Amino acid sequence: MSRFIFILVFLIWLACPAKLEHDISRHLPLQLGTFAVGYALLIAGLTVWGKRLAARTQQPEAAIRAKRFHRMLDASRWIILAWFTLGTYWLGWKTLVDHLLQNSFAQRHELQFPSLVIGCLPAFAAWLGLWFAQYAVDAARLRQNVLFDPPANPPPPPPLRDYLRTHMRLQLLLIVAPMLILVLLRDVLITTLDAILARLMQSPPSHDTLEMAIAIPSVTAMLLFGPELLRRVLKTRPLPASPLRQRLETLCQQHHIGYADVLLWQTSHQMANALVMGLVARWRYILISDLLLDRLTDDQVAAVFAHEMGHVKHHHLYWLAACVIGVVLTCSLAADWIGNHYPRIGDSDIGQVLVLLPLGVAIFGLVFGYVSRQIERQADVFAARALAGTVGQPVDAANAAIFAAALQRVALLNDINLDARSWDHGSVTSRLDFLHALAQTPDATAGYDRAMRRFYRLAAAGLAVVAIALAVYAWLG
Ligand SMILES: [Zn+2]
Repeated sequence: MSRFIFILVFLIWLACPAKLEHDISRHLPLQLGTFAVGYALLIAGLTVWGKRLAARTQQPEAAIRAKRFHRMLDASRWIILAWFTLGTYWLGWKTLVDHLLQNSFAQRHELQFPSLVIGCLPAFAAWLGLWFAQYAVDAARLRQNVLFDPPANPPPPPPLRDYLRTHMRLQLLLIVAPMLILVLLRDVLITTLDAILARLMQSPPSHDTLEMAIAIPSVTAMLLFGPELLRRVLKTRPLPASPLRQRLETLCQQHHIGYADVLLWQTSHQMANALVMGLVARWRYILISDLLLDRLTDDQVAAVFAHEMGHVKHHHLYWLAACVIGVVLTCSLAADWIGNHYPRIGDSDIGQVLVLLPLGVAIFGLVFGYVSRQIERQADVFAARALAGTVGQPVDAANAAIFAAALQRVALLNDINLDARSWDHGSVTSRLDFLHALAQTPDATAGYDRAMRRFYRLAAAGLAVVAIALAVYAWLG
């Protein structure tokens, strides 16, 4: 979930109404000071805690203490978001930024990009502070060499700058870069169209109308070409030719999966992961991280790779994109309806922050989390079958075991507790138990395939209902 908090930061900034009507009050410096000090205290507290923890890794209770620290780090991401909301709405941050941009080119043309970049900066800076606080603990862990099956000479922990840069790329930029490009695209298109239409028409359409007209083409362009941007943001290069690369390419050919390239994901050995991105083969990339490649056997790398192939084979990226668009439209419809029927909620800062926003997050979390867990499981099943050479057969015990070993190793390398429930992936244990259960009963895999077909029919029906509801709502005005 943590990456999605970045999107929430954007949404909160964009949803907050302009505060230009508020005069710069004499309390503003005090309010902004409080806003900054809040973040500083959080980061300072966590940094001291992290350093103390790193110095005591040999003590018997170290593992429990580290777990507590990581739980607090998780909570801090939400605290940063909550504090950002408070600062934006009530501690004068939005007022200051609006006044700074007053009468600027950006404000005159109603551009969103400059305000968004400046506005979200405090939250992202605080996030960087969290990694700073985390560094000492992670470095101590690497030095201790607790990683599974360490090589004879474990590499030293990365320097702080590398560590921060890699975390920025892996977490922040992965989500933030496409969002920023999308907003920039919107600004450029609207300003250009505005200028052209003003010459051609007596009364050019409003920005709201233009925004609706460009929404679908911009989002489609981003979904199609986004991987070209992300492969650069994430620091990747083509996976060098090797017997393993040959084996992965053969797997793709066997299962008729098109792709532009298989990429080596350079994470300074900080993360064991694989990723597939791209809706169409021309701009589709399958990424394997350096740590994954170094620490897994070829069989296990193939298993993880096959899981990513499963996402392509079952069109999961399309379903996820449709799900996100469906949920966002449903939430905006619900917000609009509530705003019309309960103006005290829709028009007030308190109503927006305490009712509409949590409602949106809850709907998104429930629907996206559920869909995401289903498709992860289906990709696991695909992987176990693909390793056996054919995906029409039931999952067999030997290949389920190879996949299980790969997933366990990935969890260990990333310091993920096998039983920890993940909102969008489910726990590693539950995923592996499910696969073993399928391998135990010959008919179970066919039953599972039928259940998934039902699941997709239901999802399609749900999306159709959303589309009809939207059409009716628009028609009724
Ligand atoms: Zn997956």
